[in-house]
Amino acid sequence: IKQKTSSIIEQTEKHGARNYHPLPIVISKAEGVWVEDPEGNRYVDMLSAYSALNQGHRHPKIVQALKDQADKVTLTSRAFHNDQLGIFYDKVSNLTGKDLVLPMNTGAEAVETAVKAARRWAYHRKGVEKNRAEIIGCHGNFHGRTMTAVSLAEGENDTSGFGPMLPGIKTIPYGDAEALKQAITPETAAFLFEPIQGEGGVVMPPEGFLREAQQICRDNNVLFIADEIQTGLCRTGHTFACDWEDVVPDMYILGKALGGGVFPISCVAADEDVLGVFDPGSHGSTFGGNPLGAAVAVAALEVLEEEKLADRSHRLGEYFRDRLRKIENDKIKEIRGKGLFIGVELTVPARSYCEQLKEEGLLCKETRENVIRFAPPLIISEEDLDWALNKIDKVLSK
Ligand code: PLP
Repeated sequence: IKQKTSSIIEQTEKHGARNYHPLPIVISKAEGVWVEDPEGNRYVDMLSAYSALNQGHRHPKIVQALKDQADKVTLTSRAFHNDQLGIFYDKVSNLTGKDLVLPMNTGAEAVETAVKAARRWAYHRKGVEKNRAEIIGCHGNFHGRTMTAVSLAEGENDTSGFGPMLPGIKTIPYGDAEALKQAITPETAAFLFEPIQGEGGVVMPPEGFLREAQQICRDNNVLFIADEIQTGLCRTGHTFACDWEDVVPDMYILGKALGGGVFPISCVAADEDVLGVFDPGSHGSTFGGNPLGAAVAVAALEVLEEEKLADRSHRLGEYFRDRLRKIENDKIKEIRGKGLFIGVELTVPARSYCEQLKEEGLLCKETRENVIRFAPPLIISEEDLDWALNKIDKVLSK
């Protein structure tokens, strides 16, 4: 007998720590852009697990790679080599143009890796005095939930009750090149940024900021590190959001869609002079670089290329925003984004709109208080997109 939504939610909430506030819907099946609840109601997924599902739910090629590899070997640890990791490294190196790749599992772990690499680089290469290295982050950023990541955040909810925070971190207003210049000292190791802030509400820096910030970092021998965990891998209409300004960071941090929505895999990629600071035993992860994840990631990256998902995101994103701009509602403050990474900022809390959209068969989630983020799988068809836009039109026009 099929357990119904309410009893499943009740069971889930009984022993689950209360660190999330999900919409009251249970997803028990999914394919492409569509998900289904236990009662058989269907919804279009406009969140894509925070952009981890750029290739859509259960992409056949990615699921096949998972199954094929599961029949061979799933985990070796890095105490031994496996026959999939090298293929993954080649793929990521080609995609990023970087010499070296270091695999982890979650986004937050990749951010940890980036910060550790930057600190070591500061001591070993830049000559910063022991334990003095600084990392500069941005107000309103989101880099995950580990202590390093929350130390980079400043929201009450992210940090309250978790102190002391990691030392050696400063933040500047997002998109403010002058503030970056002022914040840099001879002890600055890196500037860590999201090219578009995702959890911050799909916030874009002023045009030209990335280029200017990169120049400032170069002039001061500071690493320029892009957290492309949410914006990367075709989400914004280019392979990386940095591509919008033709900027190549010193290090890319990748995650989410790298695992094609079926397996957690993340990594950082940088050239030898940066990632070469790690030596055996200085960093690692039991599951990082496992053959199952590596095989899945290779398939996930191939899907992005084969299905030209960057172009698709670019084209459909323009269309999506044009349609949104035709909606008349004085509570809409701003419509912004790049590719299929879209924020609709309201003058009122967004939650009730998300709840109404759910009733219409469309799943999305507010980010910050007032922003609805629309980020469907990039494989969405024109037909499904139109279906969704008609629902959005209906709800937002109220
Ligand atoms: N960095 C960015 C920009 C993110 O959007 C996220 C997740 O939302 C993370 C890091 C953390 O990734 P994870 O949840 O896989 O640890």
